[in-house]
Amino acid sequence: RHVPEDINLLLDAMQPLKLRGYQPWQGFCQAVGALMSNPLLPLDGKGVMVALRPVPGIRAEQALTLCRPVRMGDIVTLGDGRLVLFLSFCRINDLDTALNHIFPLPVGDIFSNRKVWFEDSQIAAELVQMRNMNPEKWGKPLAGPGDISAVIRAQHDGHAWRRIPEPVTLLDGSNGGTS
Ligand code: C2E
Ligand code: C2E
Repeated sequence: RHVPEDINLLLDAMQPLKLRGYQPWQGFCQAVGALMSNPLLPLDGKGVMVALRPVPGIRAEQALTLCRPVRMGDIVTLGDGRLVLFLSFCRINDLDTALNHIFPLPVGDIFSNRKVWFEDSQIAAELVQMRNMNPEKWGKPLAGPGDISAVIRAQHDGHAWRRIPEPVTLLDGSNGGTS
């Protein structure tokens, strides 16, 4: 059966929902832009975009190693010293729930500043700013060491973050108990 070409165009514009995790700055802007201009997706209900600036002492590149989106359509990029996440179909009231699934620590412990956009017009306006940013400010994921999950003793099993239990010795036997 013949499918009109414009339907294929609309379906192509759903492709970003098949992405997950880190995307280079331009690819991120392109993906979110495609979602914003897709009339098949609900008005002002496409998702939440959030920019997170790490606390002093943590670089954005290191914070990225703690950012593990689990849901398809949840993407993240790095630039100008901050992480920018787009959480597809997440509602604004559920932002903290979603961030708790994505980061192993309370988000307030990793990031000191957040900016949130959730209406189509707000997201579109921010995308214009993002696309105009000087490419020198685009970030790149760390190639090797710098993963801070070892420091916070948490591990991602591909599904969710798990804290690594640390054995604790309560009594060491040699001076066992009081008399
Ligand atoms: P997905 O949407 O890509 O999500 C992948 C995994 O992320 C899920 O694996 C789950 O561990 C986690 N996840 C995603 N969204 C949420 C959420 O809102 N709350 C919680 N607690 N965890 C979330 P899981 O559960 O094995 O699901 C595999 C796939 O099955 C999902 O892929 C999705 O395509 C579908 N699915 C499962 N449950 C639902 C649901 O309630 N609604 C919808 N629309 N799809 C679902
Ligand atoms: P929602 O997408 O309407 O999902 C409502 C509830 O259905 C979720 O409550 C969870 O119990 C279940 N659910 C939905 N999708 C999945 C799935 O893929 N796997 C499993 N195991 N359960 C699923 P929950 O977890 O309290 O999340 C509440 C709301 O928070 C979600 O509403 C969604 O708007 C947002 N959210 C939570 N986690 C994520 C996430 O990882 N990514 C995004 N984009 N949104 C999320």
